[in-house]
Amino acid sequence: MSKKPASPAGSTAASPASASPAPAPAASNFIRHIVEEDLARGTNASRTWDCRPGSAAKHAGKPADPAKIRTRFPPEPNGYLHFGHAKSICLNFGLARDYGGVCHMRFDDTNPEKEEQEYVDAILDAVKWLGFGWDAFGTEHLYFASDYFDFMYDAAEYLIETGNAYVESLSAEQMRALRGTLTEAGKPSPYRERSVAENLELFRGMREGRYADGEHVLRTKIDMSSPNINLRDPAIYRIRRATHHRTGDTWCIYPMYTFAHPIEDALENITHSICTLEFEDQRPFYDWLLEKLAEGGLLQRPVPRQYEFARLNLTYVVLSKRKLIELVEEKLVDGWDDPRMPTLVGARRRGYTPEGFRLFAERIGVSKSDSWIDYSTLEECMREDLNDRAARRTAVLDPLKLIIDNYPEGKEEECHAPNHPQKPDWGKRAVPFAKELWIEREDFMETPTKGYFRLFPPGVNPAGEPTPGNKVRLRYGFVIECTGWDKDAAGNVTAVHCNYFADSKSGTPGSDTYKVKGNIHWVSARHAFAAEVKLYDRLFKVPHPGRSVDGVERDFILDLNPESVKTMTAQLEPSLRTAKPGEHYQFERHGYFVPDRLDPVTGEPDFNRSVTLKDAWQK
Ligand code: ATP
Ligand code: MG
Repeated sequence: MSKKPASPAGSTAASPASASPAPAPAASNFIRHIVEEDLARGTNASRTWDCRPGSAAKHAGKPADPAKIRTRFPPEPNGYLHFGHAKSICLNFGLARDYGGVCHMRFDDTNPEKEEQEYVDAILDAVKWLGFGWDAFGTEHLYFASDYFDFMYDAAEYLIETGNAYVESLSAEQMRALRGTLTEAGKPSPYRERSVAENLELFRGMREGRYADGEHVLRTKIDMSSPNINLRDPAIYRIRRATHHRTGDTWCIYPMYTFAHPIEDALENITHSICTLEFEDQRPFYDWLLEKLAEGGLLQRPVPRQYEFARLNLTYVVLSKRKLIELVEEKLVDGWDDPRMPTLVGARRRGYTPEGFRLFAERIGVSKSDSWIDYSTLEECMREDLNDRAARRTAVLDPLKLIIDNYPEGKEEECHAPNHPQKPDWGKRAVPFAKELWIEREDFMETPTKGYFRLFPPGVNPAGEPTPGNKVRLRYGFVIECTGWDKDAAGNVTAVHCNYFADSKSGTPGSDTYKVKGNIHWVSARHAFAAEVKLYDRLFKVPHPGRSVDGVERDFILDLNPESVKTMTAQLEPSLRTAKPGEHYQFERHGYFVPDRLDPVTGEPDFNRSVTLKDAWQK
């Protein structure tokens, strides 16, 4: 079962349907408490700042750091950002904004094989789209871990010189065999007691390319019997002949993430290094490493502190780059920006909004224990934001012709429809009315079921008496009475006939004397334009893709929803002809829609449904 978020802020019922899109006051959480305590105590007040990242020597003697706190968002540029990243972005940039600090945009590009410029650009775009930036205190705080390779190399030599690191020449397999288990201590490698001189000689040889990939690695020398396996002499440098997206072929050795990340934080004066819970067991190494390097005078004190929070787990999607890459590469979706993808580029095409994501991040809060957030919580946030910002329009998604027999041929007139029911200042727009209209196929029934108030033709009641055709109001237009229908040879209804009441036009005196139960939408057939509209359903048909009933992981691909998209040709009111991507509309009765691609010839858009008006998955 999926859980509602634990915090009271997670309740969706509490907020009104038309919440303002302005950022809600930030709900407090344990990380905010830590930051507030640090600020009150002046924990980081002694730090100085050289206007750019650097070693202790660089920052020494420079002015006090103008940033009260420094956080960072450190993606690896090996894929597009997903909804989980949005949580981390809102948290890190939000803290910096609220506490007089700055959040660094940092690419953790220490792994040369999978990283590409394409991803760097897409990530920067996505963070900006969410409404955050990295300009503060007169500079841009956009950093690349690869810019610190020289420092990292020197730090590694320092660890060797101080007896805290050694070159390992066992194979990965042999190292694993000596590492021990959770219940069993590890055993020292035969290379653990190499002399400083030998280690330095070998490590320099690694850098100079004298050895093959995998022939040696550099390991820290900590404690092979530590109960925390992460402290059993973790590897910190490996040989890898790969061209790096920024440093090219300058290096053939690369630092491991666990070694690089704390150093990146420290060079950048990060005060609060916030990561997901899986890194909790790495924290002792994070602290050990920074302490050693600060002790040696390489890094400024106080060193950064790491704090862990629960990652976002969202039902009906997968939030793991590895799995998203698989969906793209196996062509199970139409690329990273497929509107069904839980990526920020996908969300944008889907018509989700940055404000909706920020509201979502506030609402789900930040906690220390893992839980699942129901996908409907995200949809509700989007709905709330879109309700506020989307202009109302009319679209007939499953068109059926309606012919008003007593309306003069060739005549047309204007009806006036409000652009937003709660915002009279948005005004009204004119919509053309004529003899032939498109209505929804479901708004007519040849033989009405009980309680059906929309169009149905004259008939005979059970007592054998004739009954009139039903009357409905054409929204913002006239009241009509159904008189009959046409069928093709196959028995399909091809048109509905009716008469209209000329004195019933909405907004004219006396029009409200007509009392009808049904109110249906329409577009003039002559003026409407046909457009492709895509309706989306969940990408996966189960809440926890890949999770089997007994808790064993299975192939998540098997859980894809085969009906996650439905394409229809809709008839739209003429004003939508010039709608542009980035605008948001509510198609009355159908939900929120966003223009997607413009036809290269006509310039007319097609549309994606962002979210329905109500949660169709409840119950
Ligand atoms: P994935 O697990 O999808 O591969 P990742 O952690 O490898 O993601 P990174 O590019 O390393 O991706 O992540 C950048 C930042 O985003 C990290 O600080 C990470 O903690 C955070 N992050 C990633 N996934 C989530 C998530 N589901 N919820 C919250 N934060 C996340
Ligand atoms: Mg990662």
